[in-house]
Amino acid sequence: MQYILKGHIKEDTVIGMLQLFYPNTKYTKLDSIVSTGILLESILDIDTVECVLFENGNIIFKEIIKLHYLTEEYIAWGIKKTIYLVLNKYTGIYSSWGLLTGIRPAKKVTEFFNEGLSYDDIKEKLTNFYLVSPKKADLAIEVSQNENNIIKNNIDKNVSIYIGIPFCPTRCLYCSFTSYPINVFIDKIDSYINALIKEIKYAGKILSNKNIESIYIGGGTPTSINEYQLEKILYNIFENFNLNNTKEFTIEAGRPDTISIAKLKVLKKYNISRISINPQTMNDKTLKLIGRDHTVQDFLNIFNMARNLGFNNINVDLILGLPKETINDVEHTFKTIEKLNPENITVHTLAIKRASRLKEKLDNYNFVNIDTMEKMLEIADNHVRNLEMFPYYMYRQKNTIGNFENIGYCKKGFENIYNVQIMEEKQSILGLGSGSSSKFVDLKTNKIERVFNVKSVDDYINRIDEMINRKVEKEEFFC
Ligand code: SF4
Repeated sequence: MQYILKGHIKEDTVIGMLQLFYPNTKYTKLDSIVSTGILLESILDIDTVECVLFENGNIIFKEIIKLHYLTEEYIAWGIKKTIYLVLNKYTGIYSSWGLLTGIRPAKKVTEFFNEGLSYDDIKEKLTNFYLVSPKKADLAIEVSQNENNIIKNNIDKNVSIYIGIPFCPTRCLYCSFTSYPINVFIDKIDSYINALIKEIKYAGKILSNKNIESIYIGGGTPTSINEYQLEKILYNIFENFNLNNTKEFTIEAGRPDTISIAKLKVLKKYNISRISINPQTMNDKTLKLIGRDHTVQDFLNIFNMARNLGFNNINVDLILGLPKETINDVEHTFKTIEKLNPENITVHTLAIKRASRLKEKLDNYNFVNIDTMEKMLEIADNHVRNLEMFPYYMYRQKNTIGNFENIGYCKKGFENIYNVQIMEEKQSILGLGSGSSSKFVDLKTNKIERVFNVKSVDDYINRIDEMINRKVEKEEFFC
């Protein structure tokens, strides 16, 4: 896909729209019109924006909008709208999220609520101004209201902590996270944990005056390490942090093939309040295809084991649109999960990320189309609502089929605070471990600053003092 920008340099805005209609495509910026292929020209001229679509040098469609305001936001909206209208006519594709290309649609709705708009005003704005479908507008508003129930009590004194353990048994086909094969890194795990403990000790000092509202240990798959290593980390968390006011402690147990009764007992000993056990699908053929080293039965065994040990807040991650999965496969997955009656279900739509093996092997698979993905999302929503669950956080990733969303559903009282805080960005989150990022939020000014840890395990171990020093510069957030 080729494009030209004239009178503006909002390249990300243009590419964001191109991705809606032409995901997983190479976008090439040109300086002038060419006589071959599809070319989109986006033009800003004083108070108008225009989009012209060329096919082999000939104009196919054209849209022009007069801008009533010349703010950056309004100009971006005009650019998006003209591109949307032109590409919608050309491809016949509708995006149910319209011009909302950001990763946090509910956060936008929260901003509207904060401006004093009513439910009806917001719905009108989403559907008419942003071209969002009425169904998605309702969803975004419902999620925003549920998120707001959690963030409305935020105070500067509250923070959350993320701890990353970036190892997994094998790499899933669609994975683009920082994740290293545990077998290859087995000799480095202890050094990694020692570096992590150094960072935990530092964090314990700077957070001594704070309320740690939630802790989330993610990855990779934290339960890839053995039970002794897991306990060493948990012991140090309890030694260094004051957790008297902590409302929630989550561990991503993720892959069923990493969980054992010994590890679950360690998690229970440290009162981990929420665990995630993620089958992604309840179809063995798909599990094999996506490179997960476990079966449906393995997942069921581990889930029941966790239940028998008293875990009463379990999340299950599922992915819609996995290679070769049909609507019947999705029905089967949800019917099986429904019987387990988990407290949280997180529904993802498949994203084909650049760093994944799936992207490399794209030609080997047929993917579901937008209509099928929409039906799959409906099936998911119907099943989870049968379980008296509601959507309470939501985000979107780039390169998903149809630009659809990922939704966290839960039963009342089981909302994951950490996930909501991440989405709404109204609380500082200290990230520890390789690949983690820290977010420093000033509630008075809404200013957000970010500090990143290195991704490589070796760099993290060797440069742990530097990782700590990067945070020292932001310590004023915690005074
Ligand atoms: S379990 Fe998660 S982090 Fe690990 S390889 Fe699979 S997708 Fe990546």
